[in-house]
Amino acid sequence: MSRKLIIAGVAATLLVAGLPLAVQNPYYIHLIETIMIYAIVLFGLDIVVGYTGQVSLGHAGLFGIGSYAVGVMVMKLGAPLWLTLPVAIGVTAGFGALLALPALRVTGPYLAMVTLAFGTIIQILINEMTFLTEGPMGIKLTKPSLFGSRLDEREFYWLVLAMLVLSLIVVHRILRSHLGRAFEALRGSPVASDCMGVSVYRYKVYAFVISAGLAGLAGGLYAYSEQYISPNTYNFELTVLFLLAVIMGGRKTRIGALLGAAIIVLLPKLLDDLELFRTVAVIVAVLVAVGAAISVQRGKSTWKQAAVPVVGSIALAGISFVLQTMTDWRLSIFGLITLFVVYYLQDGIVGFVRAAMGLRPGGQEAAATPKFVGGRDAISNATADMPAELLTARGVLMQFGGLKALNNVDLNIRRGTVHGLIGPNGSGKSTMMNVLTGIYVPTAGDISFAGRSVVGRTSSDIALSGIARTFQNVQLFGEMTALQNVMVGLHHTFASNLIDVAIQTPRYQREDTEATARARGLLEFVGLDNLEREEARNLPYGKQRLLEIARALALDPQLLLLDEPAAGLTAPDIKDLVAIIHKIRDHGITLILIEHHMDVVMSVCDTVSVLDFGQKIAEGLPAAVQADPKVIEAYLGGEAEPHGAPSAA
Ligand code: ADP
Ligand code: MG
Repeated sequence: MSRKLIIAGVAATLLVAGLPLAVQNPYYIHLIETIMIYAIVLFGLDIVVGYTGQVSLGHAGLFGIGSYAVGVMVMKLGAPLWLTLPVAIGVTAGFGALLALPALRVTGPYLAMVTLAFGTIIQILINEMTFLTEGPMGIKLTKPSLFGSRLDEREFYWLVLAMLVLSLIVVHRILRSHLGRAFEALRGSPVASDCMGVSVYRYKVYAFVISAGLAGLAGGLYAYSEQYISPNTYNFELTVLFLLAVIMGGRKTRIGALLGAAIIVLLPKLLDDLELFRTVAVIVAVLVAVGAAISVQRGKSTWKQAAVPVVGSIALAGISFVLQTMTDWRLSIFGLITLFVVYYLQDGIVGFVRAAMGLRPGGQEAAATPKFVGGRDAISNATADMPAELLTARGVLMQFGGLKALNNVDLNIRRGTVHGLIGPNGSGKSTMMNVLTGIYVPTAGDISFAGRSVVGRTSSDIALSGIARTFQNVQLFGEMTALQNVMVGLHHTFASNLIDVAIQTPRYQREDTEATARARGLLEFVGLDNLEREEARNLPYGKQRLLEIARALALDPQLLLLDEPAAGLTAPDIKDLVAIIHKIRDHGITLILIEHHMDVVMSVCDTVSVLDFGQKIAEGLPAAVQADPKVIEAYLGGEAEPHGAPSAA
């Protein structure tokens, strides 16, 4: 983190800490306390929503579990603070795991439904389990004691602030560690994550459990803060509010979470006070109009695009003057604001401000001093005194309905060679790679890699055993920088766990420094060393393909599969690519190369296999294969010829 940010953070913390000394009205102190508690929930929810890209409608339920864990322990056992909060975190994380393990097998709307059902069930359980929770009566409790004396309102406020800062630091550390990269990667491209040895399912669950723990902490603090908890607090509206806050504040930003928390706490108050609401609505309308005018003048948007938000906010201000009371309209107005945010501020308020000020998202500075590691050292050398065959496939059949995409294919890949796999579009080349990397399980046949069967194992397991790949359609983690993309490939070099990350143990720091240096070395190896801070999605196409290769090499593979690496590349780029492929082979890494550019195939391949309609029709030295009448026939029969354009499939 940059020094400026730390100073700003310390200053802001001191300011907030000093507030109860300046403001005497307990109502406002309590309001800010609530904002801080919600912000802790949102830090966690953002990990799930912003980073892993999953939707959770169960966080009000988790928040409730945290509250009731504290409430019940205080009521039944008179348990002290140092016990209740850790237990609240633990219990809620446990429930989070219970929910996540089955729920995260599904995604999208199904996940939303499952988490929603979870939240509802929790509310019902709290209501019904009167022997534990007192049911609808609720539980009353007092502020906790610490070091023998009961905390007063102000001291408890400081405790909440301390917890907020602690959560912020821990979450920040998690998100910039290999764990955070795994979360972000699985959103960017699940298939690539798995193929980099980062199990999508495992890390989704992990993210959810961390998120639940934070909700538990917040829930526990909330119970003490309110001094009274009852089931109907933890309802559907609250869960939607949490989600709204993340979306409005902006994904993947802690400031956004704070802002979102402030909005959801203050907006209902605002809607209760018509006079205040009118004033704010007019101010917002003016700001939106001015903002739109500026953006049109700068050519960032057209009048048409700018018209809707301007008209919308003016209309809202107008309506507020027509209405006599706002209470009945609260939800509708919330809904309108949400729609507005979803359509016009897709990166939330923080994202919008960043874009307007031309800032980059934070948290991407690389650690420590750049340590130079030459490209050669970045890849370890594989030893050669092993069986000649690294991979053998026998009778592989891959059937999609009636289509045999692969029909009884045998393949022998010798160690240390570059094995070309060619054939017309749709002949089954990519399918072969998907079978080799566990994305598809073959209908029949055996595949053995380094003496072990591949069939039936998960992609991440296969990847970790030494098969890395690139994709025909580039599968980078778009929102992550080039360096971070490669660091995801180096995930397997980290043994650090959550605790290591949270307290930044020497072990974690060492692993992080080493991985960063190696990632830089790999970027240099493919000639991208000056682009490490660029987001992958902003790289030119040719560079993206090279970045994919660097990321794959980070796995330290014995076998590297390249699916049409030259597709869409310019002639000079292709020359670089060929040089890189040679360098990779010189490091002792075996390659399988799918390629349409025959000149590339001829110049780098030791052996070539030809597929046509899922069957192997020829195999041998490149020159012999190229002259084979069956091969010529296959290509002439198909729509593409060997020198032709890359397939779009
Ligand atoms: P290539 O990479 O040689 O161009 P592919 O391996 O992508 O060809 O495709 C081989 C055949 O398998 C094509 O007919 C394609 O439509 C079909 N195919 C590939 N994946 C699937 C799938 N998941 N479901 C159905 N058909 C598929
Ligand atoms: Mg293909």
